[in-house]
Amino acid sequence: MHIDAFIDGRATPGLGGAPHARISPIDGRSVVGTAASVSVAQVGEAVAAAMRAQRRWRSVPVADRVAIVRAAIDDALDDGGHDGLLIAREMGKPAAEADGEFAFARRFAAYCGPQAESACAETRVEDDEGVLLRVPEPMGVVAAITPWNAPVILAALKVIPALMTGNAVVLKPSPLAPLAVTRFVADVAARLPAGVLNVVNGGPEVGEALVADGRVDLISFTGGPVTARAIGSSAARTITPTVMELGGNDAAVLLDDADWGPELAERIVFGAFLTSGQVCMAIKRVLVPRERHDAFVDELVAAAARVLRIGDPTQDGVTMGPVIDDGARRRLEALVTSARRAGGAVHELGSMDDDLPADGHWMRPVLVTGLGDDHELVREEQFGPVLPVLAYDDLDEAVARANGVEHGLASSVWSIDEEAALDVARRLRAGFTFINCANRAGVSLRAPMGGRGISGHGREFGDLGLAEYLQNHSVNYPSTARPGRRMTANRYPVASA
Ligand code: NAD
Repeated sequence: MHIDAFIDGRATPGLGGAPHARISPIDGRSVVGTAASVSVAQVGEAVAAAMRAQRRWRSVPVADRVAIVRAAIDDALDDGGHDGLLIAREMGKPAAEADGEFAFARRFAAYCGPQAESACAETRVEDDEGVLLRVPEPMGVVAAITPWNAPVILAALKVIPALMTGNAVVLKPSPLAPLAVTRFVADVAARLPAGVLNVVNGGPEVGEALVADGRVDLISFTGGPVTARAIGSSAARTITPTVMELGGNDAAVLLDDADWGPELAERIVFGAFLTSGQVCMAIKRVLVPRERHDAFVDELVAAAARVLRIGDPTQDGVTMGPVIDDGARRRLEALVTSARRAGGAVHELGSMDDDLPADGHWMRPVLVTGLGDDHELVREEQFGPVLPVLAYDDLDEAVARANGVEHGLASSVWSIDEEAALDVARRLRAGFTFINCANRAGVSLRAPMGGRGISGHGREFGDLGLAEYLQNHSVNYPSTARPGRRMTANRYPVASA
């Protein structure tokens, strides 16, 4: 399978070198497909096409834009050819989980429609002070740069609100999972006016060219901190605004009165190990009252034995596939070795199918107890199936430790006492806090999600997610400036005769 880029309404072969071959993490060997490598000049062509298209697209009435985008997504999905299998093969998440990415795009478009219509509505105030119009206007050309761990969802989160609010988009997906998302987005783009939605494929050099292009009006980025810093420096040169959705080191704070038992343990396993732990808002640390610690660890090991089956993600019943590549596997195994050396106890979780391909990037999920907060596994985002469980003595200490990292993406509080949970949630330094659930299980389309600290700035989902793609234009007509009126305030003083 080969996937072209999509520029100015056409499937476009890449001119930036040999197509990029995506090797499957399932066997570390077979080529799942190739994606175009676009040249720097083609990035410029995509931005130019988006600029031209946006001038017309912005004047299409918002209700029509919404209907066109929704129909394009629905038709592309109804025509078939989009399922989770390709995502499973190119990046390793279970196919059933990946199916949900396309269903998400459809649901999110349905949610965003009415939101876009109200966000784009002009407001007019008329009173003694005069007339004030507030005109929400699209930003213009949006550069959307996305990672590999939820390729379709993370693209949909940018493309759908941007288009509905009147922007044109140039999307650059990750070369680690370029196939399913490019095929889907190109299918959607082919149903829109030419140039409104473009996809450019390639690695960092393509992303660099896109963010350095002074004609881009907003950079919406999801990914890691190293890339975020490079993009931020580049954006500073052109004074281009950014939305930065970065990593997390999310603490799950279990209160003494949590609903201890198998159900809670299964929710924690889901929150921590979905997509092999490679989710920005996965549980990355668990804080448990000291007297509950040992029983909780036993419960978690038992829950993982029930629900975590590691194997070929294209097969039914597998709940965890390989990690994304060999570099990630080696980095994660080094973390486990270092945790052991630091005195941590490592508990293997779940079951692993027999006869898995030898060169697949398999990793047995583990939980690690007995580490200090200064260990790298606790301090940094691990982004993989290695979960530290930490004991605490009192709640203030737990809150301070939950907040004591540089990240501030999400967190979760677990308690049967709703008010106690909400109280602790208010004290956590995060852009999002889940109660008695975590990760995708607790996401709501209406709840803005985003980070603070090195987890980034700006929001996705909800009304605030749409607002990122609009800028306010105020038009003020003071009543004192009306014909025949004399403005008395804020004039140069006139010397009296
Ligand atoms: P990454 O930063 O390596 O890559 C993300 C994208 O940026 C890719 O498309 C990549 O090709 C591109 N890129 C790389 N260098 C670039 C440059 N110099 N200029 C422009 N673009 C460049 O991230 P990743 O490894 O693909 O993703 C993992 C990270 O993403 C984790 O930290 C994870 O927590 C985070 N993430 C955050 C969210 C969120 O919503 N907050 C969601 C998913 C993942």
